[in-house]
Amino acid sequence: MKEKVVSIIIIILLYSCTTEQHEKAEQKPQDKRELVLETLPKTLGEFEKSLIYQDLVNIQEVDSSILVDLKYSTEDNFFGRDVYEELTNAYLPLDVAIDLKKASTILIDKHPDLRLLVFDAVRPHRIQEILWEALDSIPANVRKAYVADPSEGSLHNYGCAVDLSIYDLKKDSLLDMGTKYDYFGYLAYPRMESQMLASGELSQGQIENRDLLRDVMLQAGFKPITSEWWHFNRTSLAQAKLRYELIK
Ligand SMILES: [Zn+2]
Repeated sequence: MKEKVVSIIIIILLYSCTTEQHEKAEQKPQDKRELVLETLPKTLGEFEKSLIYQDLVNIQEVDSSILVDLKYSTEDNFFGRDVYEELTNAYLPLDVAIDLKKASTILIDKHPDLRLLVFDAVRPHRIQEILWEALDSIPANVRKAYVADPSEGSLHNYGCAVDLSIYDLKKDSLLDMGTKYDYFGYLAYPRMESQMLASGELSQGQIENRDLLRDVMLQAGFKPITSEWWHFNRTSLAQAKLRYELIK
């Protein structure tokens, strides 16, 4: 009799587990999205909610010492338009944000008054299209030096690139890197630095500031590029396409 009762209980438990799993499997992606979005604060804008839904994290929640000034959320950018609107936080995949925290820790250990300041992190693909169109007066082959072609994709679209500089808390200003963010010209090219130094267009101090940024980012696993001092990649585009989602 006792064995019979135990068997019945097991059958009931198995049935209830199977039913539960079946219900979970039946949950539509749209339902899942609604459930995730319901848990987020109502004050968050749709743009930010969509980044969280796509598994990205606010980098300041990973490391509150990193400063953020999203230039595409202002009109102080190369095309003079605010395309991020209410979004003022910078988002990245968690593992990339953790690597950025490493760079920040290395910088602060060496220079307690300095902080990383992020201009742009993940950039959804639809925003990439807007940036590409904003430069439509420049032929496509030249434009690629400044903005990635959205048909090929940018590492920013996968959250695998960061644009940043260094902020001096004591002086209450950015370190002098020789140009502003998104300066389109040789003066911003790391590969032209020795020529720019020789011609007097860049100073030794400006190059040392760039070297400090490169040093902490390289130690944390990011790689600089040859045409923008502020841009760092965490992986190759081919690897990003395999391992990360394209952010819409
Ligand atoms: Zn960039």
